[in-house]
Amino acid sequence: MTERLRDAYDVVVAGGGAAGLNGAMMLARSRRSVVVLDAGAPRNAPAQGVHGLLARDGMPPAELLERGRAEVRRYGGQVVAGTVTEAARDGGGFTVGLADGRTVRARRLLVTTGLADELPDVPGLRERWGRDVLHCPYCHGWEVRDQAIGVLATGPMSMHQALLFRQLSDDVVLFAHTAPRPAGEQAEQLAARGVRVVDGEVAGLEIADDRLAGVRLAGGTVVARDALVVATRMTARAGFLAGLGLRPVEHPSGMGEHVPADAVGRTDVPGVWVAGNVTDLSAQVGAAAAAGAMAGAQINADLVAEEARDAVAARRTPFSAESEARAAEAVMSDSRHGL
Ligand SMILES: Cc1cc2nc3c(=O)[nH]c(=O)nc-3n(C[C@H](O)[C@H](O)[C@H](O)COP(=O)(O)OP(=O)(O)OC[C@H]3O[C@@H](n4cnc5c(N)ncnc54)[C@H](O)[C@@H]3O)c2cc1C
Repeated sequence: MTERLRDAYDVVVAGGGAAGLNGAMMLARSRRSVVVLDAGAPRNAPAQGVHGLLARDGMPPAELLERGRAEVRRYGGQVVAGTVTEAARDGGGFTVGLADGRTVRARRLLVTTGLADELPDVPGLRERWGRDVLHCPYCHGWEVRDQAIGVLATGPMSMHQALLFRQLSDDVVLFAHTAPRPAGEQAEQLAARGVRVVDGEVAGLEIADDRLAGVRLAGGTVVARDALVVATRMTARAGFLAGLGLRPVEHPSGMGEHVPADAVGRTDVPGVWVAGNVTDLSAQVGAAAAAGAMAGAQINADLVAEEARDAVAARRTPFSAESEARAAEAVMSDSRHGL
């Protein structure tokens, strides 16, 4: 990712995961100048393979994105390494600032920076995350089928996770940990499905030969487990949008914070679209890519509408100050230095 940044683009895409790359591909194929600025840390980086994705099931996440970058470049889009730190209104468009001091202008912004997973505060979880500390039955459930699975109770999602993983293994244990012990209908469901509840706070993990061997309770008891399921708090990586008045808000599900948008990714700030996990906390790779493609197409349509309006105005008043300015911009573009 050594390409040089130009001064200005039709669209700057912040974030080069599945959502950003698919959005950029739609834009590049529409002959839009587009750059993807990417910090290079997709959410599923610790996972061995991407699962549940038609025709690419099991492909390593890094390989999937490498292919995506090549596809964007094939149509003239750029993918450049960099971390976006700020975005500000600049006339009818935006100026985007990067951590290394570079800036770039854009007519539209597509934000696909994903989310950060905040793990429960139990020692050792981060080191095993995406390997045998898991969160999603559709991502890694098949891979741990019939194994001894634990679910760490941290909130309302944990009951749901216990029942979902019970579909994949007969041996599921719910660690009550710091959450109240399930009662009433929930307790009945767990008992009926053969999910044992283990009381007591979880203090850590037992690891043997670089594999999870068990879950250690505060009292010292170790419950043998091959995999531990946790629910993370998910927070949109979108702090750099504050200058535009766009801030992540609590998601209605209680699972974390997201940037709200309509069904095609349009936010409350004109000209700014979002796609993937930054707005849809539960989107898997396929859904993130599809949302990126939708947002990319919508941005192109928005630019087409603006250009049609401008063309009509120019046709009606061919020698206005605005049309002269537009012509100068189009002719000089990046090469005005010294004029
Ligand atoms: C452990 C784990 C395993 C998973 N396994 C699967 C699976 O098997 N199948 C599946 O479908 N889904 C899986 N998922 C979900 C999957 O990770 C998401 O669906 C997917 O990553 C969402 O894509 P995205 O483009 O929205 O975000 P991401 O893939 O997270 O991409 C966002 C990109 O933006 C970059 N970025 C962030 N901030 C900035 C910034 N300020 N400036 C520039 N760039 C920035 C990041 O570095 C990253 O490259 C898994 C998730 C986890 C945590």
